[in-house]
Amino acid sequence: MSFSTLKLHPTLIRGVDKLGFLRPSPIQAKAIPPALEGRDLLACAATGSGKTAAFLLPILHQLVEKPRGTTRGLVLAPTRELACQIRDDLNALAQFNGIKSAVVHGGVVMGPQKTAFRRGTDVIIATPGRLLDHFQHHYAALSGLEFLVLDEADRMLDMGFLPDIRRILQHVPKPKQVFFFSATMPPPIEKLTREILREPVRITLQRKAAPAEGVSHTVYPVLAKQRGALLVELLRRGHIDNALVFTRTKHRADRLAKVLNRNGIFSERIHGNRSQPQRTKALAGFKSGKFRVLVATDIAARGIDVDALGHVVNFDVPGAPEDYIHRVGRTARAEAKGEAITLVMPESESDLQDIERALGLTIPRIHLEDFPYDVAPGTPPHPPHGNTNKPAQKAGNRKRKPAKIDAESKYQLRRRRNGKRRTSS
Ligand code: AMP
Repeated sequence: MSFSTLKLHPTLIRGVDKLGFLRPSPIQAKAIPPALEGRDLLACAATGSGKTAAFLLPILHQLVEKPRGTTRGLVLAPTRELACQIRDDLNALAQFNGIKSAVVHGGVVMGPQKTAFRRGTDVIIATPGRLLDHFQHHYAALSGLEFLVLDEADRMLDMGFLPDIRRILQHVPKPKQVFFFSATMPPPIEKLTREILREPVRITLQRKAAPAEGVSHTVYPVLAKQRGALLVELLRRGHIDNALVFTRTKHRADRLAKVLNRNGIFSERIHGNRSQPQRTKALAGFKSGKFRVLVATDIAARGIDVDALGHVVNFDVPGAPEDYIHRVGRTARAEAKGEAITLVMPESESDLQDIERALGLTIPRIHLEDFPYDVAPGTPPHPPHGNTNKPAQKAGNRKRKPAKIDAESKYQLRRRRNGKRRTSS
């Protein structure tokens, strides 16, 4: 099947061609025809499947011939990064027809976002909290709304956004068409779909959670005290051009980026404690090659889409198989090849085995040749944690009382707890 058989507007076919998309991905092939007929969609599709264009193309097709100056499309996304990614995809797809979009998320000033509402920007892509802030004001009535998208609805549930979404639904007029995307369908999400969708076309792409086929997986067993040094060594030895490195906590992301920079590996970090301009700069620097490594926490990495990202490194083993899939989904996008490297400490082996069981994979364990595995804790040159005077493992496991629990911290805590529950059942 080609894009032209989907009968999309010629300006969109040009946009798709310019992006180098040769044919619709399976989710696009299934979603676009009924969406063009005006049907609601309920799609279970993992990240990396091409789901963004699957909802954007039918919306853009229906907007092309309409007069400008009214916001007719609203996309709700769980994180700022995902919202920006959707905006970028929309701009690329709509480059030959002038349909405009704007992102509305927290962490930046409200002024330009207000203007986007006032001008009636065609499509607004928003995170729930900031959108509700705008709804306090009459300029954000969205009275001409026709298309509503909920993207990564299960993540919005995980992050505690469900009440916000219900408030948003009460505020906006009933849309003509709703597109609902979620990688999983837990009961509260099922309930929400029953409330807002009208006889939707159901599309399920992958029943069983699985990472993209082009990803190869490797595991390096290592003690906590040598994790940082091992990562530095892997990056020095050559076959990794750029890598997105995941840590479970924001503090560890900060510490690890410092260790890498100290060792001459240009790195930046992206997590919930960083301001929006800092995140944007970090991501842009990583995309342009200024930084070789981007250290990220799970939430902040949602929506990160980097062309030719060859490697994802799990510096910490993720607490749940779904997080592993989401993390490694950042590489091998759209049928490319990629490698997922996981550093596993003895105390994280059981988490890793849960992941292998859930994915039906046995991941090879690799011992890095000539790496000084027997060096004493904290030995220079690459201490894994900031304070070389303390045993690294203790520093890593120290319990901290978070000063303020924000959405990301809450999500991480819940994720870890759920992971543990699954392990014990
Ligand atoms: P998504 O799942 O929407 O985040 O898309 C994952 C990646 O696939 C993005 O980099 C898209 O630009 C790319 N992509 C989407 N649709 C296609 C397609 N039909 N052919 C090739 N690449 C695509």
